[in-house]
Amino acid sequence: MTQDRSRNVKEDDEVFVSTVPPSGAAETCERRGGGGGCGLCPAGRWRRGGGGRSPPKGGEGSRRQARVPGLVTAAGPGNRRPQDLAEMAGGGDRRVVGTVHLLLLLLLRLLLAAAPAAAAQSQDRDSWMEAKNYHQPAILNSSSLRQIAEGTSISDMWQHDLRPLLIERYPGSPGSYAARQHIMQRLQKLQADWILEVDTFLSRTPYGYRSFSNIISTLNPTAKRHLVLACHYDSKYFPRWDNRVFVGATDSAVPCAMLLELARALDKQLLSLKDVSGSKSDLSLKLIFFDGEEAFLHWSPQDSLYGSRHLATKMASTTHPPGARGTNQLHGMDLMVLLDLIGARNPTFPNFFPNSARWFDRLQKIEQELHELGLLKDHSLERRYFQNFGYGNIIQDDHIPFLRKGVPILHLITSPFPEVWHTMDDNEENLDESTIDNLNKIIQVFVLEYLHL
Ligand SMILES: [Zn+2]
Repeated sequence: MTQDRSRNVKEDDEVFVSTVPPSGAAETCERRGGGGGCGLCPAGRWRRGGGGRSPPKGGEGSRRQARVPGLVTAAGPGNRRPQDLAEMAGGGDRRVVGTVHLLLLLLLRLLLAAAPAAAAQSQDRDSWMEAKNYHQPAILNSSSLRQIAEGTSISDMWQHDLRPLLIERYPGSPGSYAARQHIMQRLQKLQADWILEVDTFLSRTPYGYRSFSNIISTLNPTAKRHLVLACHYDSKYFPRWDNRVFVGATDSAVPCAMLLELARALDKQLLSLKDVSGSKSDLSLKLIFFDGEEAFLHWSPQDSLYGSRHLATKMASTTHPPGARGTNQLHGMDLMVLLDLIGARNPTFPNFFPNSARWFDRLQKIEQELHELGLLKDHSLERRYFQNFGYGNIIQDDHIPFLRKGVPILHLITSPFPEVWHTMDDNEENLDESTIDNLNKIIQVFVLEYLHL
């Protein structure tokens, strides 16, 4: 596997408006045969860097500003008042000039009196929004690392979290419903107070309108900031072939099971986040399980990332924290850690983004420390998972709609992809237990350090 399947960020992340009735929703899955059968790569999803289209002129920033409420520019409404006043004072009627001057003075005094309060408010807003930029991990000592390694159980994960997900679960299928129920039930039975939300919507696909459901699970929804862990729970639709079903074990049943195991293994620590009286009350944890990451037919801006495109737009227009002015749920995302294509032996993860490089470094250090403590199985430092080989070409995945809106991203995707990627062999037999167990430990330590638990 040497093929480079990365490409540039694609230009169009428009979300289909899902107000039209699902006229095509009754179509049967047999009609979705496209893609040509098993073992195929969806044409166009992965191109060599440079083959993709470049971002539009004006750059990411202008796009982001246009779309994210709360990003007020220097020319924004907050700065309009002096101009308005000048226009008022410039009126031609001399008889009212004296009165206008008096009114102006009065208004100025009022403005000056109100300024400190407004400044304090905006300072408060800026300080919590910027906290993610200088947030530091609380680094755990070796006895804590041992405890964490002991607290996670690959056999528990395999049996209770992973196996029920190893089914066909493309959007709208019976398996998708079962997978969703499974994920929610696993989280609901924990002690930590997970608040579950199902974000269901219709979107146009090559097969007509279809239903999709993201699952969002949040601790302390009113906390200003959340570390976000994410994966996609849908499997790519492939027609059954030789009675075999595509179950997407690495893509992405394992990442979903890893998040469930993390929530189970760290349940006690996460429970302490409930105590909102402490200094931890501003920072909490959110898990997102996206639906519809995969293309139904051929990967394109319209046929892919259904769930993440929808949710990024929705979060951008949802005020956060509740009652705030000018900030939305995306501002509340400290860092989005997206897991994908995990579970095969000897994975390597590149880093993709300079603004999250220090968190990637932390993963490297945790891997090294766990190794030195003898807590990783079948692991060598010569073949470490988190390597420093420069920035990888951005790979299309569920982080893209959030990246475009300014959310810091840590994209944990193996590169090169697993050999079994998008083949019927992406199944339980080809998973590597030690690798998954090791990665569970690394990521659990990372989360506890991030949340200072
Ligand atoms: Zn896939």
